[in-house]
Amino acid sequence: MEISEGSDIILMNTDDKLALDLFHIDKEPHIKVDHEKCRACPHKLCTYVCPAQNYTLNGDNDIAFSWEGCLECGTCRIVCDRGALTWEYPRGGYGICYKF
Ligand code: SF4
Ligand code: SF4
Repeated sequence: MEISEGSDIILMNTDDKLALDLFHIDKEPHIKVDHEKCRACPHKLCTYVCPAQNYTLNGDNDIAFSWEGCLECGTCRIVCDRGALTWEYPRGGYGICYKF
């Protein structure tokens, strides 16, 4: 974060802004993953595109997924062409609360 002296201008990068967001984490994931389909997936695009890096490769040609830091952008829903994701917004009162 960069603060300009003598002015009210505060320059924030994306990470600075995201760090100010609040997460109300539900016990139940709002995105469910079919791991059998993921193991057969040749590209694993979700591991490249999720801005929160919620998808990671594990050692079994499968992916590990954590929903807690989900930004609800929907990118994984769009790139997954294998039908492996059941994607819903979090229940009311849960999920991300954006400041910016
Ligand atoms: S793109 Fe879809 S099928 Fe492929 S690994 Fe990711 S979630 Fe699984
Ligand atoms: S909705 Fe966005 S932030 Fe959430 S898991 Fe999918 S790609 Fe990642």
